[in-house]
Amino acid sequence: MGGPSPWEGLPVFESSSVSASSPASSGAPSGSASGETTTLRFLDVGQADATLIQQGSGFILIDAADSAHDEELIHDLQAAGVQTIDLLVMTHPHADHIGAMADVLETFTVKQVLLPDFDKAPLPTTRTFEKVLEQIETQNIPTVTAEPGWTFTLGEGTLTVLGAGVETKDYNELSIAGRFDSPDLTYLFTGDGESGVEQDLLDSGVNLSAQVYKAGHHGSSTSSGEKFLSYVRPQIAIISCGVDNEYGHPNPETLDKLNAIGAQIYRTDLQGTITVHRVNGQLQAETEKEAA
Ligand SMILES: [Zn+2]
Repeated sequence: MGGPSPWEGLPVFESSSVSASSPASSGAPSGSASGETTTLRFLDVGQADATLIQQGSGFILIDAADSAHDEELIHDLQAAGVQTIDLLVMTHPHADHIGAMADVLETFTVKQVLLPDFDKAPLPTTRTFEKVLEQIETQNIPTVTAEPGWTFTLGEGTLTVLGAGVETKDYNELSIAGRFDSPDLTYLFTGDGESGVEQDLLDSGVNLSAQVYKAGHHGSSTSSGEKFLSYVRPQIAIISCGVDNEYGHPNPETLDKLNAIGAQIYRTDLQGTITVHRVNGQLQAETEKEAA
């Protein structure tokens, strides 16, 4: 497919760092006790991804499910108290990550969208993807292209882009990797990044350690490499995948590797939506249902 890229002409946010915090909480040092807690919600959206980060009254949504789960996603976000999304992150433009993104953009006030670096994967676009871009354009929502080191402040937390994908012919390896650091927890995500994304992060020498980690690519065997995990060393690992999905996610070896480093594993296919936050000083995961 020739012609100009479909994302050209989108409004671009000039600043490299944007504060979405309320004035009362901005500039608070790490560990301050203003009571602005962090909650991670790994929404059960079947064989797809949608993660909501809440810090104080602010929200970041990372990916937006598939189109089959659009109503559930909107409902879950509303139930979590979302009206405004301070930052919407598209890790990569596959349908199981952006299928309901146009609906999210229509339903909620989205202040800014973080997009992957499409120059690294000059691939044909899809109608789903174009719908998202059209919605962003129609509403004139500022966008920014991921770049390692880019940061976004949400209350007392900061999202930092650690990796912006690798040159690839596969959208998975275009996935944005990032960490959310807040006084009460740290969280690492790599989208559907596979060994190329993980190696790129290892090569860059960035600090990968995180208390909470969403296993890359729905727990596939192509992600969560042993060396990579030895740097992340998560206390809690989340796998977002569908019941009896056709890909066989999560891979049994991936589960073994996560067990071997001592991570507590939670799965949306077995336990529904998973909520992680700190209670009485302890990091806790609460599940919508008990694993069968
Ligand atoms: Zn995916």
